[in-house]
Amino acid sequence: RKGTAVITGASSGLGLATAKALADTGKWHVIMACRNFLKAEKAAKSVGMSKEDYTVMHLDLASLESVKQFVDNFRRTEQPLDVLVCNAAVYQPTAKEPSFTAEGFELSVGTNHLGHFLLSRLLLDDLKKSDYPSKRMIIVGSITGNTNTLAGNVPPKANLGDLRGLASGLDGQNSSMIDGGEYDGAKAYKDSKVCNMLTMQELHRRYHEETGVTFASLYPGCIATTGLFREHIPLFRLLFPPFQKYITKGYVSEEEAGKRLAQVVSDPSLGKSGVYWSWNNNSSSFENQLSKEASDAEKAKKLWEVSEKLVGLA
Ligand code: NDP
Repeated sequence: RKGTAVITGASSGLGLATAKALADTGKWHVIMACRNFLKAEKAAKSVGMSKEDYTVMHLDLASLESVKQFVDNFRRTEQPLDVLVCNAAVYQPTAKEPSFTAEGFELSVGTNHLGHFLLSRLLLDDLKKSDYPSKRMIIVGSITGNTNTLAGNVPPKANLGDLRGLASGLDGQNSSMIDGGEYDGAKAYKDSKVCNMLTMQELHRRYHEETGVTFASLYPGCIATTGLFREHIPLFRLLFPPFQKYITKGYVSEEEAGKRLAQVVSDPSLGKSGVYWSWNNNSSSFENQLSKEASDAEKAKKLWEVSEKLVGLA
């Protein structure tokens, strides 16, 4: 049978390119889990995906109710779940004030981390039930959260501190930042990516042996053309792609990045669990090192426990 992969945020950028790459193999049915149904339908058509290769289902990660609703709706389709890709993200580098999810969490961490945290915990049961030979859960990471890299050292740097802001609800009353500091949209995004990478490793430690599921994260390269940068100032959007292409040489096209993520979904040689994948300049994959904070097992455990409380699992 075909594999079934759920991809969050498949309506643009990396998620869409991955959906297309998987559909093109003829071996996958992709559930495009998106907040904007019409946009997702149009996006699928625009890249030439055929009807039988995908289903669009509504998911708004900025609402925990919507996450639960999505899981119910997915279960009602009675399809197996073979791979989950947590890809969606928001990035608000120029926001002066925080905005908030339906439950009142700062939007970047609320969407990118807490929404995916609840989704992955709930869907783990479905993955366990699948009889697919290589079941995987993938959470898209980023170089920007990794302070052991050049890109990760551009200020403001990611830093979760002792998680005091998160523990107090991330609701803007005490703080809207995980470390309890002043709001900074670019940092909130980087922090959320550190959470994504910590969550992947904690899932691996807690569930890999018991379930056989492969947990992985990746940095697909700098996809400087996606919608992620839509809220950045125009000059940045103009100069960022050529800068990445010719200066840092970290640039990848959406198509190439989609192929990389599709490898993490289905390539037999990328089946190892607990790995953060990256690609070198000739596009071969390797197991990359995470920064000290992004591989801190104690912090991962604490993040897990605090997040469970916030999303109502504990
Ligand atoms: P895009 O902005 O193109 O795509 C983000 C997707 O997330 C969109 O489909 C968007 O939906 C969706 N999304 C945003 N908020 C929500 C929500 N509340 N509920 C459901 N879906 C939502 O960015 P990219 O493709 O670049 O980003 C994809 C992933 O890649 C992210 O995890 C990002 O951190 C990561 N990444 C990107 C890099 C880059 O250079 N671009 C580098 C490293 C990592 P909609 O279409 O409705 O807006």
